[in-house]
Amino acid sequence: MNNEDLFKKIISHSKEYGFIFPSSEIYDGLSAVYDYGQLGSELKNNIRSYWWKSMVQMHGNIVGIDSAIFMHPQIWKASGHVDAFNDPLIDNKDSKKRYRADVLIEDYMAKIEDKINKEVDKAAKRFGDSFDAKMFKETNPRVLENQQKIDYARNRMVETLEANDLAGVKSLIEELGIVCPVSGSRNWTDVRQFNLMFSTQMGSVAEGADVIYLRPETAQGIFVNFLNVLKSGRMKIPFGIAQTGKAFRNEIVARQFIFRMREFEQMEMQFFVRPGEEMQWFEYWKEQRQKWHLSLGIPNSKYRFHDHDKLAHYANAATDIEFDFPFGFKELEGIHSRTDFDLMAHQKLSGKKLQYFDPETNENYVPYVVETSIGLDRMFLAVLSHAYCEEELEDGSTRTVLRISPVLAPIKVAILPLIKKDGFPEKAKEIMNELKMEFNCQYDEKDAIGRRYRRQDAIGTPYCVTVDMQTLEDNTVTIRERDSMKQERVSIEKLSTIINKNLKNMMYRP
Ligand code: ATP
Repeated sequence: MNNEDLFKKIISHSKEYGFIFPSSEIYDGLSAVYDYGQLGSELKNNIRSYWWKSMVQMHGNIVGIDSAIFMHPQIWKASGHVDAFNDPLIDNKDSKKRYRADVLIEDYMAKIEDKINKEVDKAAKRFGDSFDAKMFKETNPRVLENQQKIDYARNRMVETLEANDLAGVKSLIEELGIVCPVSGSRNWTDVRQFNLMFSTQMGSVAEGADVIYLRPETAQGIFVNFLNVLKSGRMKIPFGIAQTGKAFRNEIVARQFIFRMREFEQMEMQFFVRPGEEMQWFEYWKEQRQKWHLSLGIPNSKYRFHDHDKLAHYANAATDIEFDFPFGFKELEGIHSRTDFDLMAHQKLSGKKLQYFDPETNENYVPYVVETSIGLDRMFLAVLSHAYCEEELEDGSTRTVLRISPVLAPIKVAILPLIKKDGFPEKAKEIMNELKMEFNCQYDEKDAIGRRYRRQDAIGTPYCVTVDMQTLEDNTVTIRERDSMKQERVSIEKLSTIINKNLKNMMYRP
């Protein structure tokens, strides 16, 4: 199955099984907005609580907050979002399609990178075991020429964007011969800046009312509560403040399902450190966040770090954790060393001192910040795209299985009476009533047992507990594991311990 087909299947599977629905579907939908269904909301909750547990509850020096979506408009002035939260956009006059200028250039570079990779793959096949990819890339003239094209495009893009030289960005697009993917033409408008914040008015009358923004990130809610948490929590540096919640961006090009939405959810943590120690914490969080991702059973090869070419106005180091989505490697999480930019800016505009007194050095200072910021919906898509699998079984039949980490699975245990009579359902419900205190369970008595297993596989349920004749005799059941499909007979009273132990063994440990 190629990646395009895989992506289509994931989207339709999500809808068919109640993970994700297009928003307002009976009114023909609303672009780039999605709703989570009955299983999707469970999976989303589980990702959110796993992140919260890992970041807040497993670190003694990190606490969590929940700030409001509406905030004082000055906050977005201080943070730079009013003046600089812009995307450079460009329209193709023939297709009337709108693009982010930087994304067009990045796609151009990705295409050349693909060419290089194909060249390397071909050579690897030709030379066999003795092939040295690094040396090949450093010496092959075609690869070198393509690499030069990429370097040139990247350097010019960074130069022009950093200088806010929009005419320069347009010239670069023309110079590189970039065509509109829809019309194939080079008939471009000028590049313009487009602010991504949604705004509304506070108060019942629009005239004279204050413009209020829907927060485009959750981070600022943390910065403006820095003093409150510092004092009320008696925090000592280094310490972190985390929060999860909705963010809104009027994305120019919203596409790729839940990858880029206009309303989405973020999970962010700001870690406050002594100035000068930020690089060491930047490295620490890179390592920890990678460990967290790997704890979910997704292989390392699906991830890569991408250091930023163009640093945001607030950062002195930044990297993205990219994930191999069905449409290629794309940003899943950002780790940024934000310096003291945000606290300083709020200190200046609010006139309130946002400082920390360090008892070890006897100094007052504005702390530096290292941030980890991940999109909950993007993580959802990463989990789903890795999990989806159509498998051929030994007996020649196929099954669709979601290999979601048991820690995240929407339903942990399915309870299945082998037949619908003779006291089997009663016994099964008795087991369910106990287990549901700890795990999200589903009871299913309809259809043959094989079909019920398939239904659970398709929604990623890691454990199926089956009640059969022997259960009524000796209080044992079979427990079937989703991926291996192996069944084991165990006593009912051990079920909770077995499942809990398995889940605990998989969890992230800092
Ligand atoms: P991109 O370059 O893809 O627009 P970004 O660099 O602007 O993303 P950040 O501002 O660093 O993103 O936001 C942190 C995280 O929030 C991202 O890594 C991503 O997972 C998530 N995110 C950002 N924008 C969106 C969106 N429109 N839809 C879904 N998730 C998003």
